[in-house]
Amino acid sequence: MNSGVGWLRAVRLATLFLSLALGLGLIIGYPAEAVAITAVALLGYSLYQLRRLHHWLQHPEEETPDAMGVWGGVFDRMHAVQRENREAQGRLRSSVSYLRDSLGSMRDAAIMVDRDGFIQWSNKAAERLLGLRYPQDGGQALLNLVRMPDFKRYFLGGDFSSPAVVHPEAGEERQFEVEISRFGDGDRLVFVRDVTARARLEQTRRDFVANVSHELRTPLTVIMGYLSTILSQSDELSPRFTKALQQMDQQASRMEALLKDLLWLSRIESVRQDPLEERVNMCGLLEELRDEIHSSHPERKLVLELATKQLVNGDYRQLHSAASNLVQNALKYSAPDGAVTITWQESDGQPVLTVKDEGIGIDNVHLPRLTERFYRVDDSRSTATGGTGLGLAIVKHVVASHDAELSIHSQFGRGSAFSIRFPRAESPVTAASAGNSGL
Ligand code: ADP
Repeated sequence: MNSGVGWLRAVRLATLFLSLALGLGLIIGYPAEAVAITAVALLGYSLYQLRRLHHWLQHPEEETPDAMGVWGGVFDRMHAVQRENREAQGRLRSSVSYLRDSLGSMRDAAIMVDRDGFIQWSNKAAERLLGLRYPQDGGQALLNLVRMPDFKRYFLGGDFSSPAVVHPEAGEERQFEVEISRFGDGDRLVFVRDVTARARLEQTRRDFVANVSHELRTPLTVIMGYLSTILSQSDELSPRFTKALQQMDQQASRMEALLKDLLWLSRIESVRQDPLEERVNMCGLLEELRDEIHSSHPERKLVLELATKQLVNGDYRQLHSAASNLVQNALKYSAPDGAVTITWQESDGQPVLTVKDEGIGIDNVHLPRLTERFYRVDDSRSTATGGTGLGLAIVKHVVASHDAELSIHSQFGRGSAFSIRFPRAESPVTAASAGNSGL
């Protein structure tokens, strides 16, 4: 019923009753009393219906009261609203249980945690992987029940932009990958999956590459030894042979460099990601690198600019190899008289290493794939420069294991700049890394 029309009818009816009462009252000589009695009766009727409504709202399971006029309309509307609510609730309940069923059937552990870190819900896999039982453990603090230090660090760190790999216990082979996403009012959905098999496979691949590289080194050393002995007596050989032997020697040296890079790459890949505790004095490291390059390429122009004394939490050998690869590339891919500048400076409070050259540059289409193993912009040029194709892959690994960021700016034909932005070293340090000239 249209509520506006219902109200009008009710007002009209009340007016009619009151007018009738007034008419009757005039006839019998008591108009005011008759109107008053009728008004009280109308009020009583309304109060009675209000009481019925109140009672029914408190006991919605009881039958909807029947009434005439506007009160009938009110009861019908309330009944319809209640039914719609019940239906909406039912639909919501079934989607929630559908969602829970789908999360529950996952092989990965799924845990819902509120903004204060208390468990709201967890699936069956969470019991198998983490020992969490639902509903028994509902409402408990997640970190009280999952005590893996790596997990705790990631959970409290708040940066969930990429998943974390955690080890349930120190020295244990098992590995879990944890992903956390935020939803609602600071609530979090935690996914944990067992990636031990995948990690084992990766390790097997790394071991294989490392073993093959290692095994190939011995025969190669023997071949190179003989080649250099024969070449040292090249006066006795015909020029044709000498040229062939020189090429063999050149290729053997390339192969040696390749094996060295492969071995180094598999070593830095398999080092477990422990917090980097060594504080590396980058100024000393870069000075050492500059001196090394000076002695091997005295003719090249190498500029070192040290604008900050910031240290880096990291591994000295890895950092040296990354910086060295960048500088070697800058030299390789520039004209012999092109300058190479190494800068160590602070930007937005973070230390940044930049290696800049005025060389051939790189077309932007190559930049996204540049750090892949064996990716080369131009095969013939790289072969001519003697590159292994692993230099930037090594740099990428070192950058990742130091929580740093690599950025490459290059213009074809005008030069390149490779920058590594490191996180700030955690605390000011007294002892710099060994083997460096102090500042
Ligand atoms: P490579 O041993 O071939 O130098 P890298 O992984 O070090 O392998 O580099 C990959 C490719 O990136 C190189 O082949 C080269 O084409 C390009 N490159 C790297 N550094 C520079 C640079 N400073 N200037 C121009 N091109 C570069």
